[in-house]
Amino acid sequence: RQNVNGGLKQPQAHITPPRKKARLSGPLTPIQEQRRLLPIARGKDALVQEIRANDVTVLLGETGSGKTTQIPQYLLEAGLADSGLIGITQPRKVAATSLAARVSVEQGTPMGGRVGYSVRFDERTGPETRIKYMTDGMLTRELLGDPLLSKYAVIVIDEAHERTLRTDLLLANLKRILRERNGDAHDKGKGKQRNPLKVVIMSATLDAEKFSQFFYNAKIIYVKGRQHPVKIYHCAQGQTDYVDAALRTFFQIHVDQPPGDVLIFLPGQEDIESLEKSVELFARQLPVGHAEVVVVPMFAALQGPQMARIFTATPRGARKCILATNIAETSITIPGVRYVIDTGKSKEKRYLAGHTGGGLDTLMTRDITKSSAMQRAGRAGREGPGFCYRLYTEEAFLAMAPTAEPEILRCSLAQAILQLLCLGQDIQELDLMDAPDVDAISSALRTLFLLGALDSHRALTPLGRAMASFPLEPAHARAVIASKELACTAEVLDVVSVLAASSKLFVDATDKRAEIAEARRALVHPTGDHLTLLNTVRAYRAAGGEPEKEGDEKEKVGRSARREWARAHFVNERTLKEATSIRDQLRVSCTRAGIDWRTSCGEREEPVLLSLAHGLAQNAALIAPDGSYKQIMGQSVVKIHPGSSMADKKVPAIIYDELIYTNQIYARGVSSIPKSFFATLGAFNRREA
Ligand code: ADP
Ligand code: MG
Repeated sequence: RQNVNGGLKQPQAHITPPRKKARLSGPLTPIQEQRRLLPIARGKDALVQEIRANDVTVLLGETGSGKTTQIPQYLLEAGLADSGLIGITQPRKVAATSLAARVSVEQGTPMGGRVGYSVRFDERTGPETRIKYMTDGMLTRELLGDPLLSKYAVIVIDEAHERTLRTDLLLANLKRILRERNGDAHDKGKGKQRNPLKVVIMSATLDAEKFSQFFYNAKIIYVKGRQHPVKIYHCAQGQTDYVDAALRTFFQIHVDQPPGDVLIFLPGQEDIESLEKSVELFARQLPVGHAEVVVVPMFAALQGPQMARIFTATPRGARKCILATNIAETSITIPGVRYVIDTGKSKEKRYLAGHTGGGLDTLMTRDITKSSAMQRAGRAGREGPGFCYRLYTEEAFLAMAPTAEPEILRCSLAQAILQLLCLGQDIQELDLMDAPDVDAISSALRTLFLLGALDSHRALTPLGRAMASFPLEPAHARAVIASKELACTAEVLDVVSVLAASSKLFVDATDKRAEIAEARRALVHPTGDHLTLLNTVRAYRAAGGEPEKEGDEKEKVGRSARREWARAHFVNERTLKEATSIRDQLRVSCTRAGIDWRTSCGEREEPVLLSLAHGLAQNAALIAPDGSYKQIMGQSVVKIHPGSSMADKKVPAIIYDELIYTNQIYARGVSSIPKSFFATLGAFNRREA
């Protein structure tokens, strides 16, 4: 058996103050009772004192101890938010929104009241808001308008161990802000601290030392969690089909083991949706007398209400089967879990910087790290002794990398560099915890130059500044800006909002390819995927009339008609709903940038494709005599993805959304464009710069 807290380093200070005598006030409401029982509650006063006494505090604590939900409330109650907001960052949107919902309930105020959230394309805050849960990306965006983050009295960087690109950029900026707002240590007492900032770095794993060193040896505080022993089983042999292995393991537990919910870790949404179907199918075939199975999926693209199902109590006599990505590792704790099944896999984004052409985005299912494996196992021991079934061998566990590589070392830097330039910062001079590779930096600079965001002296252009004002990737922002002159903003917004959504629009099931193609035949546009997307969004909205007021009788009818339409066409309705809300947000950004979002080019396709081509200039290829497509800026031969409507077509020139690498390099999101575009394209981007 392994201790799941294995490698936890010895902390600098333990805080377990004596228990206070129960106060003799009135009976506690159940929710207040729950708060009082969290492991962190016992250290409350000491924690608040430490945070009050230090500019930066590193807080290390096991998942589920109450860090994320309680610390902001303690600080609020202690008056630390009297001079400004408390902002808490999360790497993921769903975590930010669901935590805000929970803390609103604990505070007894409606969402957007005392407690709110802010994530890309969605915000719920008001004049009363004191505690704001937000994604790390949103706080980085706020830097653009408020470089000292002067609205905030306290900033909590949560899940710091994940080391996302945005978290790293924030940490670097916080160091600067602390210097400017709080003064250097030796300046203290010289009256320089007009609006001092408190920073709290929270992490569920090891790395505390590194954060502490980064902030001039900040104090590390360790919060003891409530971790019960977890018995770990490894497979004797490696598994080839982890989804099938998870299915079999689940039913072994379900049939043989005492009650307790089961949490299964899978790499991504597709595996989750496929396992969800098979668990439901097999559960129905169990002989009577077996407990009912309630399947609950959990992944980043879920919306709030779907997320809430995870926290509703399991019906008596039933067993919950939660299918989750690594979001359940540390961000969100699920009550009732006694068994964990770990496939040992997760999806990881990795960007391979190109030397000449655009880079290559890869999203690959990979082995997890040791640290993840230990976190996953730990989820089984929150409420009592638990069990973890690893669908990999012990040797495989021992061979895992200790922790994940920071995202800044493996992602595209174009958007980050653009934002930094707007702040007047040079990524190479920034005090980062880990400095990115020079190749990755020059590849990003080249992309920005080709988009016209930078001039030949690497200085930001007005076009670049305009691009940064959109909450979009630079390529998509460029397309929206181009749509102004080409008078097709309405169309481009519809396309870009689907591309910016968090899951794919088209449901792809290899076993049903023919049936799906038949259902979508009428939507396919001869120029390819982008206008097919546009057709789809518009046909969907037309299926129920444009969404009108909430609760409207006509709207209800419209809603079910649209749902039916999406099902019949094998289209992911979740993506369409998200795209609609993204579009609405982008309209606001357009208005602010002086672009009229109502401008439409009607049935004409060329302006839309040309606008998109402005953003995708680096992602273009020409057909070669042998029938293959060769990149224009780069040497690679690209193959069109079999899921594309252009898959078997031969046309003179194409643009594509991205290159993905599975077993070979595929272009995804492909449209045919006239060759004549290229004559104007490069020159066009440069001219506006
Ligand atoms: P930590 O950040 O230390 O991992 P949290 O503050 O996120 O801990 O969670 C503390 C407790 O609150 C956990 O037991 C978790 O199950 C519970 N909790 C969090 N969100 C919700 C929710 N939306 N509904 C019910 N319980 C929740
Ligand atoms: Mg947390």
